Amino acid sequence: MNLTTGYPYSLITHGLPYQYPKLDKSIETDIVIVGGGISGAITAYYLTEAGLNCILVDARTIGLGSTCASTSLLQYELDTSLYDLSKQIGYENAALAYRQCADAIDTLQDVAKKINFSFFEKKSSLYFASNKHDTPLLKNEYTLRKRAGLNVDFLEKKEIQQKYGFDADAGILSEKGASTDAYMLTHALLQSSIKKGLIVFDRTEIKKIKYGKNGLTLLTPKNHIISARKMVNATGYEITEMIHKRIVKLSSTYVIASEQLQRPVLDKNTICWNTSIPYLYMRTTYDNRIIVGGRDEPYTSAIRRDKLIKTKSKLLKRDFEKIFPETEFNTELSWAGIFGSTKDSLPYIGLYDKTPHTYYALGFGGNGITFSVIAAQIIRAMLQGIRSPNAELYAFDR
Ligand SMILES: Cc1cc2nc3c(=O)[nH]c(=O)nc-3n(C[C@H](O)[C@H](O)[C@H](O)COP(=O)(O)OP(=O)(O)OC[C@H]3O[C@@H](n4cnc5c(N)ncnc54)[C@H](O)[C@@H]3O)c2cc1C
Repeated sequence: MNLTTGYPYSLITHGLPYQYPKLDKSIETDIVIVGGGISGAITAYYLTEAGLNCILVDARTIGLGSTCASTSLLQYELDTSLYDLSKQIGYENAALAYRQCADAIDTLQDVAKKINFSFFEKKSSLYFASNKHDTPLLKNEYTLRKRAGLNVDFLEKKEIQQKYGFDADAGILSEKGASTDAYMLTHALLQSSIKKGLIVFDRTEIKKIKYGKNGLTLLTPKNHIISARKMVNATGYEITEMIHKRIVKLSSTYVIASEQLQRPVLDKNTICWNTSIPYLYMRTTYDNRIIVGGRDEPYTSAIRRDKLIKTKSKLLKRDFEKIFPETEFNTELSWAGIFGSTKDSLPYIGLYDKTPHTYYALGFGGNGITFSVIAAQIIRAMLQGIRSPNAELYAFDR
């Protein structure tokens, strides 16, 4: 599957910072993690920290799946509002999911600190009305979030203009949010885990999996065999080629990054997104660019997605300039990627009854990075025989 095309900011900025070998012989391990994006990397970190014997393999060069295309906003706010999610799974469960995502941001900050990873910045998150009809919706959402114990403020038009320099009728300002660099974080987590015994192979595809009574055998195109007791499947959107349960709806999503700005336009300490469907989002980078993303549409083929990069880039530039009419957005990089949504915007984590000995870490959606933290925690607990509270929220049979 072609997951991303164009010039993702993070990949262009950092290139290939580390090399990993290919698998060139058969090998045995307790746990094999398939997928070396952020989900596989954070799970590998949690498992090696717990003293479990793991190897990780990826068909591509490490990080070159969806992770290198990520814009790396960290939000507890799901693609489905707390109001809508409450209608689907009940208020208490929806509030739990929101709070668990909020905790995951703090957890990731602690992990980043522990491994001396510097591309992590705490930020607020502003969810603003794209038109005045959405103000009552935001008011209601604000009340529900407040009741869930989340630290939020309701901003009126005047406050948004004063603080952020653009016009919006209303907004919810959340104290909890952050930005990172998912691609570099993936490498940093793997480098740290390698020191604790993790073995990583990239450019090593798993083309066949045999599920045995006491474990699994995984076969590569060169007929090397990985024998493992357990497997973690962190293959991202390519899972749709592996299991036939329809758990994710794919879309194409688009991003542009500006040239470096001489003066700040968007508040550096806030990530912003709006109530449009699909939503538009914006953040600043470490080197003072603005990233703008959105304009999603249903995915039909990589060819169609990529043909649209030029048009979508122009539309995103126009979207930004409509919000900040005094600033010209000079696009330097643009890219597209596959994105996915589940029926409730929650990830799929844990066991699936058709594939024994296999734990899934599938953080689909706009919170893919925070979901990967939750997945790593749940999977580590499952492997240790510990029950995780709330794991059923993300289970396959929910
Ligand atoms: C443009 C864009 C912007 C985004 N912005 C954000 C954001 O701001 N915040 C956020 O939280 N999330 C964001 N996301 C989502 C987030 O980036 C993803 O959820 C996350 O990167 C997925 O990581 P992953 O490890 O699950 O998947 P991937 O990074 O795709 O990794 C899966 C890996 O599995 C490997 N693999 C698959 N099949 C096999 C096989 N058979 N054998 C061996 N290896 C295999 C692949 O090669 C791949 O490298 C964004 C996504 C896109 C595309």
